[in-house]
Amino acid sequence: MIADLKAVVRDHETSRPRSMQTAIGPSEVGTTCARRLAYKMLAVPPVNTDSDPWAAIVGTSVHAWLDTAFADENDRLVARGMEARWHTSIRVDLPTYLSGTIDLYDAQTCSVIDHKVVGATAYKRYRKDGPSRQYVIQGHVYACGLRLAGYHVEDVGIAFWSRSGALKDSFYWSEPYDEQVVEDALARLDALRLTTTALGVAALPMIPTADAFCLYCPHYLPGVTEAEEACGGHVAVPTQPRGEPIHV
Ligand code: SF4
Repeated sequence: MIADLKAVVRDHETSRPRSMQTAIGPSEVGTTCARRLAYKMLAVPPVNTDSDPWAAIVGTSVHAWLDTAFADENDRLVARGMEARWHTSIRVDLPTYLSGTIDLYDAQTCSVIDHKVVGATAYKRYRKDGPSRQYVIQGHVYACGLRLAGYHVEDVGIAFWSRSGALKDSFYWSEPYDEQVVEDALARLDALRLTTTALGVAALPMIPTADAFCLYCPHYLPGVTEAEEACGGHVAVPTQPRGEPIHV
């Protein structure tokens, strides 16, 4: 019985539009691994598609709940004759680069806010060290898109919600919007586009990798030898005793 139930869950998850996206989205643009971006640009079919979807399903469900909660609170504010504060699910577009939907805009603090629903290990890491660079870049890209759409944005924020903990565990990170962060991210996309357009999949072995949670990468295939088909995972460059990278 449970096998039948799980099959329905898996089928429904893989049929969702987000699971079938092929364009690079704001959540991916800041990944540390350039080759992972190149695979997507080149539309190389994913090979690592059997990962457990439960965390993503829980994350998506909590996002939907939060979206309703903030939209309803906005309605209540307006019904009481107050200013609308919370703006949810706003489509943003950086023409020729990216488009996406931001979770939340707070008109009171002029902040774009992204919800992250994180598991226990990631929660501890983000609480201690702050968000990953990928999350930070995603937030600034959203802020840029929102500015282009005419919103006044001062700050980029991330609300962390614990997947396995309690509401009291949630915390918030923010920093001022920085256009340079977006320009750097888009310049990297431009450079990758140039290379992949010129060389096609032959460019893949030359594009550097980085440790970007390879186990969860859709192009990860341990032991593969042809980078044009899949990636065997990031191999750290050995360092000399003084910590200098070895250049070969
Ligand atoms: S498997 Fe790892 S190194 Fe290879 S493309 Fe994916 S994230 Fe990058």
